[in-house]
Amino acid sequence: MSTRGVVVRVPAKINLQLAVGPLGSDGFHEVTSVFQAISLFDDVTLKFAPDNSGIKLTLSGPTSNGVPVDDENLAVRAAKLMADKFDLSTDLAIHLKKEIPVAGGMAGGSADAAGIIVAMDALFEIGLSRDEMEIIAAQLGSDVPFGISGGIAIGRGRGDQLTPALTRGNYHWVLALSGQGLSTPAVYQECDRLREGLDVASPLVSDPMMQALRAGDATALGLALSNDLQAAACSLRPALRLVLDVGKDYGALGGIVSGSGPTVAFLVEDEEKSMDLTVALSSSGVVAGVVRASGPVHGARVIQSI
Ligand code: ATP
Repeated sequence: MSTRGVVVRVPAKINLQLAVGPLGSDGFHEVTSVFQAISLFDDVTLKFAPDNSGIKLTLSGPTSNGVPVDDENLAVRAAKLMADKFDLSTDLAIHLKKEIPVAGGMAGGSADAAGIIVAMDALFEIGLSRDEMEIIAAQLGSDVPFGISGGIAIGRGRGDQLTPALTRGNYHWVLALSGQGLSTPAVYQECDRLREGLDVASPLVSDPMMQALRAGDATALGLALSNDLQAAACSLRPALRLVLDVGKDYGALGGIVSGSGPTVAFLVEDEEKSMDLTVALSSSGVVAGVVRASGPVHGARVIQSI
């Protein structure tokens, strides 16, 4: 029997480093980002649907509240892009089981778009390489290619020109979630406002970061975490400073706002420490939820054929 549908599992990302260059004349910033894919996933199910039914999107999962189900959804946009490119039917049923926080700086929407590209490739037996899928992904948004590659990678340009990084080690993270998301464009605007009149350097990957990753040294990685958007995210959401303080007081190896926030990611030594910090954060009253995860993990891949 031929395949009627596929399920693709796709990870969230955190930025171990996010260096943001000056605002360009095109309104965008050149960035350099070190991404790590972590074990917090959305599951994207794609099935053939009856003729002329069009694309139908349904949602479930703890973070699906308020996510759009129309063309605003990046998964729908990814399906349409793939259909256009390869002349495929858009009679499709998409289901997103969401665990990745929405507007949390963890690229949840981008992950779903990456999941759809992999799912369309499998369902229609297109046979694209990972590199080809990443090129298509870049048309949908700067974080989408990394959803396909996973692992640890350096992103340049708008973050979408990826180079995989050779690294060692498995890292334990505790994620402090916020009840309300932050808009990525608003955080970039605030970053520009805070840096007005300052000389902003071109964004470069930090040497201590790459040394830490090559050595698999979690302590050194904790010290090397950096995010040029953190001040802006904290300025828009001052409570994030309290969250960062809880992790620091507890003795996390490092803590950082992920991407444009408001999720805060804490690096800890091991599973036991991650349990302890989870309890400390949960009882602090300054976070809406706590999730434990580890990384790096694979990018989007088919976990089931239906
Ligand atoms: P990034 O880290 O890439 O800046 P983010 O994690 O902060 O992204 P997303 O979770 O991708 O943000 O959501 C940003 C907005 O995109 C949401 O407010 C939502 O309205 C919209 N959106 C579109 N498609 C999706 C999707 N599949 N899942 C979640 N949000 C989506």
